[in-house]
Amino acid sequence: MGEGVLTPGFVRVDGEMFAEGVPLERIAAAVGTPTYVYSAGRIREQYRRLESALMAALPDIPHRIHFSVKANSNLAVLRTLQEMGAGVDIVSAGELYRAREAGFGGADVVFSGVGKTAEELSQALTDQVLFINVESEGELLVLDAVAEARGVVAPVTLRINPEVTVESPHAYIRTGEKGHKFGIPYDDAEHVALLAHSLRNVRLVGLDMHIGSQISTWAPYEDALTRIKPLIATLRAAGIDTLQWLDIGGGLGVTYEDEAPADLERFAAGVAASVRGLGLSLVFEPGRFLVAEAGVLLARVLYRKRSGGKEYIITDAGMNDLVRPSHYQAYHRIDVVREPANDGAVVVADVVGPVCESGDFLALAREMPDVEPGALLAVQTTGAYGFVMASNYNSRPRPAEVLVEGDCFAIVTERERLEDLVRLERAHLQWRNV
Ligand SMILES: *Cc1c(COP(=O)(O)O)cnc(C)c1O
Repeated sequence: MGEGVLTPGFVRVDGEMFAEGVPLERIAAAVGTPTYVYSAGRIREQYRRLESALMAALPDIPHRIHFSVKANSNLAVLRTLQEMGAGVDIVSAGELYRAREAGFGGADVVFSGVGKTAEELSQALTDQVLFINVESEGELLVLDAVAEARGVVAPVTLRINPEVTVESPHAYIRTGEKGHKFGIPYDDAEHVALLAHSLRNVRLVGLDMHIGSQISTWAPYEDALTRIKPLIATLRAAGIDTLQWLDIGGGLGVTYEDEAPADLERFAAGVAASVRGLGLSLVFEPGRFLVAEAGVLLARVLYRKRSGGKEYIITDAGMNDLVRPSHYQAYHRIDVVREPANDGAVVVADVVGPVCESGDFLALAREMPDVEPGALLAVQTTGAYGFVMASNYNSRPRPAEVLVEGDCFAIVTERERLEDLVRLERAHLQWRNV
């Protein structure tokens, strides 16, 4: 049976692609296109793989996986991970709201982000999050004031920029190098930690790092921890005895094209060796790793065109639906859901969307089956940073999202309707006098 596994969760059987037990053509016929399709089983498998690698290496060190909500914030996806025992890492009050709606308690939440507002910090205190990853001295002082006004003590971890080099494929997903906007500059860390320790309305409970994304080797994590560990010793020597947590951030990589996937056993063993004896509980914040390979974007071929000697495959999904190719020059494999009956003829084509931008493409100069209009395409490995980055550019309603479980599927986000596009706008104005 079948011709083998494409991405686990998505399989080709007799020339036709399935999500678990559901033919993708069936979903496209019922829900339309473009549509994101997620495999619940695949999400669970990724979670289990990471958790068992961590458990094997860290049997005696308390640790928890906090899914980075920004990778895929759909409520049903969050719920799937909540049921597995995950916590969450959030970067806005909106993500906090989603996490609560999906069933996470305050203590399941860690709050990251370089530009949290006083209102967002206040909401995090209302919800009693586990801790807030503070990224600057200014934010620390605002949080102290917000906590004082509320009459509470805010649990704080400091995000330290370890200033290490990370080999991520695109500059936009490197976050832990010297001079980046993220985290507290390494040389300021001791000063800010002592300040935190001296403030009455915050409690310094740990340190945090997040060095980037799509990382497949252990070395950058090791470099970063090698910088963080002496800092912990320095802070303890300075009398700070409240440290409980070390948050190692996210960044574990997946395979889009031919990249080596993150080596979980090496990662877990490296962390274990690195943190042994520190006496701190660990938090991990993977996003992409848990969901990227669990999603595809379904798109229909609208037209074929040849222009200036170039072949184009024009689809109904564009950069507003999936921005990664144009924003990060990201590679996504594109499969034809039902192999065309044309003896394996191929073309080298740009696969482009309908948006009025030359930067609107899903793939450039890609060898593709010689598809006809009407063919259904599956853009692979789009479960992370796909729908969450979708926009309404060109007044295009955002796509639907579907979750598959065995041989059942459910719509987990309805396709936007045209009236949704203008729901918050006003054509008949109520002018205000100044
Ligand atoms: C984006 C982000 C993550 C998740 O990164 P992935 O590469 O998707 O694992 C984790 N922590 C923080 C603070 C982030 O900003």
